[in-house]
Amino acid sequence: MKIGIMGGTFDPIHLGHMIAAESAREAAGLDEVWFIPTFIPPHKQNLPQASAEQRLAMVQLAVSDHPNFRAVDYELERGGASYTVDTVKVLRQLHPELSFYYIIGADMVMYLPKWVRIEEIMESVSFIGLQRPGFEVNLTELPAKLAAKVQLVEMPLIEISSTYIREKMRLRQSVKYLVCEKLRIYMEANQLYES
Ligand code: ATP
Ligand code: MG
Repeated sequence: MKIGIMGGTFDPIHLGHMIAAESAREAAGLDEVWFIPTFIPPHKQNLPQASAEQRLAMVQLAVSDHPNFRAVDYELERGGASYTVDTVKVLRQLHPELSFYYIIGADMVMYLPKWVRIEEIMESVSFIGLQRPGFEVNLTELPAKLAAKVQLVEMPLIEISSTYIREKMRLRQSVKYLVCEKLRIYMEANQLYES
């Protein structure tokens, strides 16, 4: 079985994430996509605004209407800074029979050599890089061993970010059609991102 991994802060998860995951699933023939919310993102300046429990709840709502999408809480359970290398170890130990494909934005592909302990990561997983129109990635600029592990997949350009959703919520503006409807109702009911 081929499993795609979507990592992110998901503060909150939005339709850009869902379209990315679905594009990767279809193009790479993935059996499932697992969404793994980060506890503390090592590379971001600010801590997530919503709690770990709320971010997981939102991911669970978002994946609930796709039969091949799952929410997985390994990084939240572990706590601390969420390094991919640690998550990959857990995935390998718990599921030695599965093949894992990390789904990453096109802008991230060229930064792969800078990931903490990338050598260990690439021994156990492959990568799916999402090409955006106008942001073509040149795999020949990567070390050949790493380039061989990256498959590029096209997705439409969706200019939605969690930052944009949080700002709309703060201004009490509509996020209808930017996040799935169940999630919009959850955010309103829990007064998320209102300050
Ligand atoms: P923030 O605005 O808080 O940085 P974000 O919208 O970038 O949040 P993250 O949780 O940081 O969301 O992103 C998780 C993953 O999803 C990253 O690999 C990121 O590149 C990808 N991603 C986020 N938004 C989009 C989008 N609109 N289209 C394609 N990929 C996206
Ligand atoms: Mg981001």
